[in-house]
Parts: sequence; C-alpha cells; structure tokens
Amino acid sequence: MNRSRAKPRGSILRHLSEREVLTVLQGHGPMSRAEIARHTGISGPTVTRTVSALLEAGLLEEGDMRQPALGRPGRVLRLATRTVSVLGAVVGAKQCELVSAGLDGAIHVEGLRTFATPVRYRDLVNAFTQHARQMMAERSGQVQGLGISMPGLLHRRERRTVFSPNLHQTDGQRLGEDLRERLGVETAIVQESHALCLAEMTYGAARDVADFAMLDISEGMGVGVVHGGHILEGHSGLGGELGHVTVDIHGKPCGCGNRGCLETVATDTALAGAISARLGRKYTIEEIVALLQRDEIACEDELTEVLEYLAVALAAVINLFNPNKLFIHGRLLDARRDLFERLLERTQRRALAPAMADCNLVRAQGNKRLGAIAGIIHRLTTGREEPLERSAPS
Ligand SMILES: [Zn+2]
Repeated sequence: MNRSRAKPRGSILRHLSEREVLTVLQGHGPMSRAEIARHTGISGPTVTRTVSALLEAGLLEEGDMRQPALGRPGRVLRLATRTVSVLGAVVGAKQCELVSAGLDGAIHVEGLRTFATPVRYRDLVNAFTQHARQMMAERSGQVQGLGISMPGLLHRRERRTVFSPNLHQTDGQRLGEDLRERLGVETAIVQESHALCLAEMTYGAARDVADFAMLDISEGMGVGVVHGGHILEGHSGLGGELGHVTVDIHGKPCGCGNRGCLETVATDTALAGAISARLGRKYTIEEIVALLQRDEIACEDELTEVLEYLAVALAAVINLFNPNKLFIHGRLLDARRDLFERLLERTQRRALAPAMADCNLVRAQGNKRLGAIAGIIHRLTTGREEPLERSAPS
C-alpha cells in the first residue's frame, strides 16, 4: 500500500499530571487553576506548571473571565477549540462521513465531508486518507487524531473488524491501524453502537446515568450496554449483536448469512426496503420519512410490522439488561408524531412489567459523528476510548 511514512505521535501526553488535568477538564468543563487543583488533588505549583505546558502545546486555551460569587474574577481554562482539533469518521454501509471538532467536542459544522462507501477496502482507505489530508491542510491548527465509528464485529484487542454483515469489504481489516499509518496521527476505533453510547455519555443525555442501553436501528441493528459507567463488550468486544437474533425462521436473507434476523424487519433499512418493494422504486429512509411527514404515501401495514418487531427488540434489551434508560437511535420514528407512543405501548406489552417500570425509553440525542469524536478525545486525554471515571449517581 502506498503510504506516507509519517510517524504517529502516540499519546500526546508525556506526564501523568497533564493527563489528569485534561481528564478533569474533559469531565467537568472549563475551570480555574485553583479548581483544577481541588478536583485533581495535584498541588497548586504543579497545576500552574502543567497548565503552562499544556497552553504552550496548544491543548488548552485560556477562556473568558468568569464572575465568581466572591473575590476577583479568575481566568478559566478549557480544552482547546481553535489551536488543535480532532477528526471523526463514520463508516456506513452506504455513506461515509468525516468531520472535525475541537478538543471540547464542538463539531466544526462547516467542514462536513461525505462520500459513497467504496466497494473495495483499498478505495475506502484511500478515500478517507484523501479527505482527511485535505481537512488537515485546511485546519489552521494541528490535528491530533482521528476517531472512527465502525459497524460490524470489532475485535477490541486486535482493533480488527472480524466480520461485518453489511460491510463485508472491511472483514478482517484494521481500518484504525491503516489510517494511523497513512495519516501519521493517533486513531481510535469504536464499534458504532458503542460510539452512540460514548456520544450520549460524553455530550448527551446519559452524562449522569451509570446504567443505560442504546438500540441503534439506523442501518443494521446493534445494542450498546453501559453498566456502572462502562461499556459492556463481552470477551473480545463482539457482543451486542441483537440484530442477528432470528425472529422469523423462514424470513428474508440477512447480510450475516442467516435468515429472518431482527435487523431485516425492525430497522430504518427494513422499513425503507419494505415500502420500496411495494411501490416498485428504491427510496432511502430520509425520502420515506419526508413522504410520510407530508402524508404523500400510505404505508400503515409496513409501519405496524416494523413497530411490532422493534417492540420485540426493545423488550429483549429491557428484560436482559434492566437499563435505567434505553435510547433509540434511528430515523423512522420521525415519520409520524404518534409512532413513539405506539412503540412505547407495544414495548410495554412485551417487556416484563417490573423491568419496564424501571426503564425510561427515550430518543438518542447524539449520533455516530459525536461518538467518533468522543472516542478519539477520550483516547488522547485518558489513553482509552471511554471516559476514565464517571460519577455513579442514583
Ligand atoms: Zn443476520
């Protein structure tokens, strides 16, 4: 493979105190030197020295004055948003995306790039390399790393896609390693359901929730489960594949080689496929949602069937994991205002009552872009893809 020989910088942090300061700012937001000392337990002079080094490296920025309740206003420090940035890549079955963001996770909206997912793996690596290099050239500050949200079964230790039912060109490949070598920056690779969990834990509605689950129904179907503040991954990170549980033994063929899998009947893709088949024209889920919102097509049968199977999936997650909050990520519920209520009602009928009563079913706020960004920021600031410590509230 043709490649630049740029050497990855590895972890950007040489000293433990630097890591601790970044972690505390990542977890709690902007604060003064004195507050950093209080939160980390590091002595005042060490905090001052560490902050100076991080400011010089461009990883921190000194923010606006804040008006404390008492005493003089102090300068606050925050993770850099202008001097350095990170990139986030979303690999999808049909489309790929690349965005940039500050270390505070704020996405630079003007810079979104999308392209059709190449059929060959080599072209996928080339396309990401080319777009990322252009973005790195455009960004005035330094790009510190790239986070990647990836579908399929991702082996955690090997950072390798073992098997990807809807993206077979990545089977056996190590996209994170290949892009690290090409681009010369640190990479973090996160399974897409876990990326959605990370987005919700870091920037969304799960910042203070220790036990929650995420059901992704946008392309395939996957589950992410967070228990005690950590993502459950199974022995090698291959867990969470609820989408490939059989619900119809005579059902449609699935990308995994089986038939009648949940993801063939209870996802955005399944709904778009069923309606397209009846209307004799290929529609994307975005087109279907728009048509339904304008009442331009009728597809009550298809909607009812998808909701019924989706309730089976949600009830399975509720019965198995007893989550305190269960997020749903997908587009189809946007099609009609009553769909969420109908889904809730069906789920209540299928799930065990005590576990259902314990669970708050909500729409996800985050997305895979934010999850990819969260993954690389956590990797750079804490050395791993997920947050180091999370408060364990009620
Ligand atoms: Zn399957």
